[in-house]
Amino acid sequence: MLRGIASVPRHLFVPSAVAARAYEDEALPIEGGQTISQPYVVALMTDLLSLRPGAKVLEIGTGSGYQAAVLAAVGASVYSVEISEELAKAARLRLARLGYHGVHVKVGDGFHGWKEYSPFDAIIVTAATPEIPEPLVRQLAEGGVIVAPIVSPDGQQWLVQGLKRQGNLRTRRVTGVIFVPMQGEVRGRESSAARPSIPVEPPTGERDRPGHPPLSNQAPRERAAPVSGHRGEAARRIPPAPYFAEPAKRPAL
Ligand code: SAH
Repeated sequence: MLRGIASVPRHLFVPSAVAARAYEDEALPIEGGQTISQPYVVALMTDLLSLRPGAKVLEIGTGSGYQAAVLAAVGASVYSVEISEELAKAARLRLARLGYHGVHVKVGDGFHGWKEYSPFDAIIVTAATPEIPEPLVRQLAEGGVIVAPIVSPDGQQWLVQGLKRQGNLRTRRVTGVIFVPMQGEVRGRESSAARPSIPVEPPTGERDRPGHPPLSNQAPRERAAPVSGHRGEAARRIPPAPYFAEPAKRPAL
């Protein structure tokens, strides 16, 4: 998995203005106000998918295409859905130019997944959502794994791993994270009192201690400011710095 990550030229997935920082372990801004996740988060999420060679993976939120390229580099065939047409086009072009022919990108609301190619051995959601959309659970193969950042009612985001057994999803929280919010249909459901909530078990493990800074996929905007060392009001409002944790333990599902 680490070899897979090491093989993907991250500097070619970010705007040239931030390319020099592409090999630091931090999230970076991409087009359209979106972010490319911190490499540690990409590695953690890829690892949590427990992929076998040749696995068919659905990604929600193509963004730059970096996570999709990493999935392809570890041997998966990837179906990635991106809601922004501009980002989808750019990612498709970039992935084709770099030779990632096993990645298929479509424009659409990832809430609905990509039914034509289902069932998927694994699903990775890279935008925060208050619930795992039901169509994604349906499109996950029996025994398949889904990894998604879930916003709990108190606003805290958790990376959640779910395993599908007998048609049901058994989930567990892995660690605190910060992702950009999922757009589209899921937003309309947030206000609905009737929305089903997935059963997410209490946090486990060393990295979930209270007060622990969440892993961030948000670009640290203050560093893009002139190099004066001054941190203004905007900087105080950004999420805490990402935490560099020990490699994740293989989940016991
Ligand atoms: N995986 C990306 C980073 C994702 S940032 C990478 O490796 O670069 C989150 C992405 O999710 C953004 O590109 C955003 O446009 C997209 N997104 C947000 N809501 C979505 C939805 N409902 N369906 C598909 N994509 C969505």
